[in-house]
Amino acid sequence: MNMLSTLDRVKQHLVDLKMPSALEVLDDILGRVERDELSTLEALDTLLAEESTLRETRRIRAQLMTSRLTNIKTLEAFDFSFQPSLDRNRILTLAELSFIERHQTVHLLGPPGVGKSHLAVALGVTAVKARKSVYFTTLAELVTTLTQAERAGTLTNRLRYINRVALLIVDEVGYLPIEKGGANLLFQLVNARYEKGATILTSNRGFKDWGEIFGDNVVAAALLDRLLHHAVVVEIAGNSYRLREHADLIPESLKGGAALEEEKTRRKPGRPRKKMSVATA
Ligand code: ADP
Ligand code: MG
Repeated sequence: MNMLSTLDRVKQHLVDLKMPSALEVLDDILGRVERDELSTLEALDTLLAEESTLRETRRIRAQLMTSRLTNIKTLEAFDFSFQPSLDRNRILTLAELSFIERHQTVHLLGPPGVGKSHLAVALGVTAVKARKSVYFTTLAELVTTLTQAERAGTLTNRLRYINRVALLIVDEVGYLPIEKGGANLLFQLVNARYEKGATILTSNRGFKDWGEIFGDNVVAAALLDRLLHHAVVVEIAGNSYRLREHADLIPESLKGGAALEEEKTRRKPGRPRKKMSVATA
């Protein structure tokens, strides 16, 4: 009688404390204690671990939504053998996330389909799991958001909101040209963020094309000045994973990062320049 009421009380505590997972496994764990399969301490550990795991899973799911990371990709799912030009260890080092502490910028460059977005999202997911705040956007969406905020008179708040995150991911730089006003807004964001937060950018275009992408050489040079300082540049020169079964159908002229290869010959390999002028591009 006394035993039963203690058990009932424990169950009620678990309800009051909002620990549904622990409640669910309680009877099973107590059974294992009675059969001497678990010590009291192990039983407590198992019970709390159950609840803790559920909460962590929920936290990650909610944070992924807030971060706008909806199309989830992981490093485990990335086939490095498909992309021999990519140094696996460099990506795994990035996944240790010290670039976030150091407020660095990571550029993932390469032609379409080589896994730039996949890797950017996977690093974002890794950061969320490590309790870092993340904001994922395409460049086109970001410029639209900033333009709308400026019209609504809320630009300062919007810039503050975006720059509060530990890791900003800007996908698809260079797919669409950016209006001049958009480039200026982006510069405000990048300038305010400079040395205060980490950024990952993905692009299918070389830096020399930034003047064209942003419709203004001066703004592009100012953007690159910030975004290449403390930067890690990862170039992926391989084939499209999307087209891996149809590679023979793609004309040579459209294959594998011609623009980036050209860019490489103009640079000392492996060392991103601190400053870079695109005025000559
Ligand atoms: P990009 O952004 O460079 O154009 P994505 O990252 O969108 O390319 O990759 C295109 C598709 O192929 C995605 O579904 C991605 O998950 C997948 N993918 C690309 N590279 C790999 C890889 N090496 N291993 C596994 N999946 C890959
Ligand atoms: Mg992409």
